[in-house]
Amino acid sequence: MVETRENYIDGEWVATETGETLDVTNPADPSEVIAQYQRSTAADASTAVEAAADAQSEWAATPGPERGRILRATGALLEERKSELTDLLIAEEGKARPEAAGEVQRAIDIFYYFATKAADLGGTVKGASAPSTNLYVRTEPVGVAALITPWNYPIAIPAWKLAPALAAGNSVVLKPASQAPGVVIEIAAALDEAGLPDGVLNVVTGPGSEVGTEFIENDGTDLVSFTGSSQVGQLVYDQATDAGKRVQTELGGKNPTVVSASADPAEAADIVASGGFGTTGQSCTACSRAIVHEDVYDDFVAELVEQAETIDIGPGDDHEMGPQVSDDELDSTLEYIDVAQSEGATLATGGGVPEGLDDGYFVEPTVFTDVEPDMRIAQEEVFGPVVAVLQVEDFEEGLDVANGVEYGLSASIVTDDHTEANRFVEEAEAGVVKVNEKTTGLELHVPFGGFKRSSSETWREQGDAGLDFYTIEKTVYDN
Ligand code: NAD
Repeated sequence: MVETRENYIDGEWVATETGETLDVTNPADPSEVIAQYQRSTAADASTAVEAAADAQSEWAATPGPERGRILRATGALLEERKSELTDLLIAEEGKARPEAAGEVQRAIDIFYYFATKAADLGGTVKGASAPSTNLYVRTEPVGVAALITPWNYPIAIPAWKLAPALAAGNSVVLKPASQAPGVVIEIAAALDEAGLPDGVLNVVTGPGSEVGTEFIENDGTDLVSFTGSSQVGQLVYDQATDAGKRVQTELGGKNPTVVSASADPAEAADIVASGGFGTTGQSCTACSRAIVHEDVYDDFVAELVEQAETIDIGPGDDHEMGPQVSDDELDSTLEYIDVAQSEGATLATGGGVPEGLDDGYFVEPTVFTDVEPDMRIAQEEVFGPVVAVLQVEDFEEGLDVANGVEYGLSASIVTDDHTEANRFVEEAEAGVVKVNEKTTGLELHVPFGGFKRSSSETWREQGDAGLDFYTIEKTVYDN
């Protein structure tokens, strides 16, 4: 019997009035329905916003240490349930077990991290020109936060928006991605159990064009934080700014790893394979371009192909690389593989569905060589396990090619040359820059965000910077 999960609105579990649901299936075996969720409407979203607006001022007035206590208790509940959450994440999104477990742990750590921050928030006392003036800066919440999240990190991304929003005293309406909403429902259950007052968090599942749009346009919300594709993100950004709201959009990437003449080809291939094929290439920071100096090109390609061919593919439960999340994502990757070949790139390995795995949304780790910078495979986000290898003559050309795309999320260089490394750090057009490391993988206590089309740039997520978006400062002169 498949379980039907309800929306969480005003502290209650409620079904949509239409009675419609949407099925979430296992991407490794789509004949298996994992759960049903509400296919909610704009009316459900509006009810959620009303509940959040009603609950906001009392939550804002709740002392920071008490808000922190609830976040900490939530972290502890999620920790107790780590193994079930990991299973659910694998079942709905398809990640390999170590990656899924790591993501759940990240969500737990985020709740603990912002629990401490909640107690610390409040403001700072300043010196004043008049000795009788008590001058201080108060940190206040902004109001009702609308959070819209993608499927590829279905628990970590909602956590990294939700925890700072709540820590700062905002109330929240949250729409998770329809491909993998289960782990967000579990976060709501844990917050409820930890004592979050009714209405402070409201989770509504359903189509982005209905639920998401209502969250953005409803007068009751004050700020919008969106993570997802650049296409939808642009729309969300325009809608939110038109409605006069504070908005943050974190979007796609076309992340390069530059391989210098001084790099060890085997080490560089290891870094590129891990960044490009980890999480089935479905990370916003995934390495999708290896930009390789001609002196090490042949050796690098041989090593990368070997790495790609030894990856163990199958259901994420007990294999190294799981499926793509949906048939749409698989079709899109296969289409890019066709386009790359028709544009003249050479398929060095992969390119198809692995033998015996055509029931799920599996695709082979794929490497293209002879890629030119203006080909679509070198410019557009594929969001699957596909690495395009481009050959360059020198560091300057490598840097130009790395920067020659619309995106600017993460960029890395593999080099033994300190001068090159420093220049790359200074000149790479990306919000995250790494030296001798893969493009993926983030620490939670430092800012994260992109340049160019990868982000709205004004606000960053995570760390202290992650709190700025959810707070506003008021300067008080008290004589
Ligand atoms: P998506 O844009 O399709 O959907 C993201 C969310 O927006 C979902 O909840 C979806 O239901 C909702 N949505 C869809 N249409 C909407 C609309 N018209 N109005 C409001 N909301 C709407 O993205 P996705 O496929 O879920 O996620 C993959 C994308 O996310 C990739 O491009 C990836 O690079 C990006 N991403 C970026 C980051 C980052 O921090 N920069 C992190 C993870 C993923």
